[in-house]
Amino acid sequence: MQFIKHLKPFALIELLQGMGLTLRYMFFKKKVTLAYPYEKGQVSARFRGEHALRRYPNGEERCIACKLCEAVCPAQAITIEAEEQENGLRRTTRYDIDMLKCIYCGLCEEACPVDAIVEGPHFEFATESREELYYTKEKLLANGERWEVAIAARLEQEAPYR
Ligand code: SF4
Ligand code: SF4
Repeated sequence: MQFIKHLKPFALIELLQGMGLTLRYMFFKKKVTLAYPYEKGQVSARFRGEHALRRYPNGEERCIACKLCEAVCPAQAITIEAEEQENGLRRTTRYDIDMLKCIYCGLCEEACPVDAIVEGPHFEFATESREELYYTKEKLLANGERWEVAIAARLEQEAPYR
């Protein structure tokens, strides 16, 4: 037995076992890697991505300027200014998010009573300058329009757990 033990390193058994494992993963096992960005993985319904401000189906802004999101934001990334409109409704005149301060905690979405501010599924929003990551109300509303279908589906899916 001692003889076999000493022979083992010279027979390169571990090396052959390792190569066998490599070949098995190359040809027979399902691949677990993706060729990103050409292939994309599933995004969880609880994923907290880029922010968006939503509208109702009739085009009216959901946000009622209650400022709960601004108050709850631990990074103080949200800045809101609001005023009363002629029809008596409060609406924001300014709604900015400094995405460089944001820590994507999702508390703004949790605090919002009308599902106006949400974090959507979009995560590919890297920029070349800091200024581009200072989101204005127009940018956030545009995000809402762009991602509304996915956001609404996600909110419906998560509704039983909220
Ligand atoms: S996700 Fe968190 S840190 Fe970012 S804006 Fe919302 S509350 Fe603030
Ligand atoms: S987004 Fe929601 S929480 Fe924030 S001010 Fe508007 S209604 Fe209030």
